[in-house]
Amino acid sequence: MAKIYYDSDASLEPIKGKKVAILGYGSQGHAHALNLKDSGVDVVIGLHEKSRSREKAKKDGFEVLTPSEASKVADIIMFLVPDTVQPDLYRECVEPNLNPKKTLAFAHGFNIHFKQIVPPPDVDVFMVAPKGPGHLVRWMYEEGKGVPALVAIYQDATGGCLDKALAYAKGLGATRAGVIETSFKEETETDLFGEQSVLCGGVTALIKAGFETLTEAGYQPEVAYFECLHELKLIVDLIYQYGIAGMRYSISDTAKYGDVTRGERIYEAVKPLMKDILTEIQKGEFAREWVLENKAGRPVYHALLERDREHLIEKVGEELRKMMPWITGKELK
Ligand code: NAD
Ligand code: MG
Ligand code: MG
Ligand code: MG
Ligand code: MG
Ligand code: MG
Repeated sequence: MAKIYYDSDASLEPIKGKKVAILGYGSQGHAHALNLKDSGVDVVIGLHEKSRSREKAKKDGFEVLTPSEASKVADIIMFLVPDTVQPDLYRECVEPNLNPKKTLAFAHGFNIHFKQIVPPPDVDVFMVAPKGPGHLVRWMYEEGKGVPALVAIYQDATGGCLDKALAYAKGLGATRAGVIETSFKEETETDLFGEQSVLCGGVTALIKAGFETLTEAGYQPEVAYFECLHELKLIVDLIYQYGIAGMRYSISDTAKYGDVTRGERIYEAVKPLMKDILTEIQKGEFAREWVLENKAGRPVYHALLERDREHLIEKVGEELRKMMPWITGKELK
């Protein structure tokens, strides 16, 4: 079982009196910066001169420097810009300002694990990755609670890297909930696998395949939408709160029998595909594809997203959701 650290296992001492540069002020950036500041840590924000996040960071009471200046003055440099822009930012702004006393920090392992960023061997490198979106990380902290996080050490040059990482996690409020020890490899590969085969890719594929199976057989798209997409939330909410067995407790016996018998066949069909997807991740094939896709201006990314935006399920859904004002309260921006 995993090693889990709580408040009593961590001290803020290793980062007290040190300067932390938060590069980026988006979802994670604003939450890390505000929580660390409220925990008594000295925080500076690194953003480009033209960044639209500058105003927000200043309004929140932070000193805002360029990423280069922030890297120069900081002891700990946390990367909270999008993963795809981190390698260039590292090369242009961070690497020239590194020395053996500095620490690099990440909230996701992709660039380190797949060697898109290769730090010199004499700096500490850790990860603290909250298991929730930035706004929840901030909101829970304000409530005196925390969001669980993963902690990992890639390089311990000073012998004190884990203590520093745990101090950072404590400053975020994460040790109030529990901080699970992992490695850059495990965090990166499981994160990619989860979003590709279950959370994003898997769920959307199941929805589309189910919807198309019904509509191609002549059933009305509106009815297919409810059965294959809308009702998903009710089931997922139950699973989220009570687990799979708890969800099954509240569905009918007919639904349960269909679930375990027909579900078994979907399971048999899908599991070998999932193993292939995991192997591609482990061999670095997905990482290479995504890095090259970005260099090429993302042609496949744009084409496939556009294709799916044109899917019948989107047009039907747009109309049906208007019938349900409790859903359409807010526009998704
Ligand atoms: P985001 O997209 O919300 O924020 C991006 C920030 O970076 C913005 O402040 C933006 O101004 C700045 N930025 C954008 N392009 C830039 C550029 N070219 N140069 C410099 N700055 C630029 O990012 P996020 O979702 O907070 O993700 C940050 C990191 O946290 C990533 O490594 C991500 O994997 C990780 N993470 C995110 C979540 C999440 O729920 N969002 C959870 C855990 C870990
Ligand atoms: Mg994001
Ligand atoms: Mg993830
Ligand atoms: Mg991810
Ligand atoms: Mg039904
Ligand atoms: Mg039913």
